[in-house]
Amino acid sequence: MEKEKNNEELICFRCQIPLVLEKTFFNYLDHTFFTDIPTCPKCKQKYIPESLVKGRMAEVEKELEDK
Ligand SMILES: [Zn+2]
Repeated sequence: MEKEKNNEELICFRCQIPLVLEKTFFNYLDHTFFTDIPTCPKCKQKYIPESLVKGRMAEVEKELEDK
């Protein structure tokens, strides 16, 4: 079963193995959230796409403004 079809497979530079999505905990502006981040299962190196982080942070900022 394939999920996230538009996610191209990412390879760890160090280990040369495919990254797997791992729930990752973020803390931003005293706001916490979990996001699936491609992570190397071996060395735990995370690949965080800037667009993803910016998107989530913009959401958090918007939430805070609404309060
Ligand atoms: Zn690795």
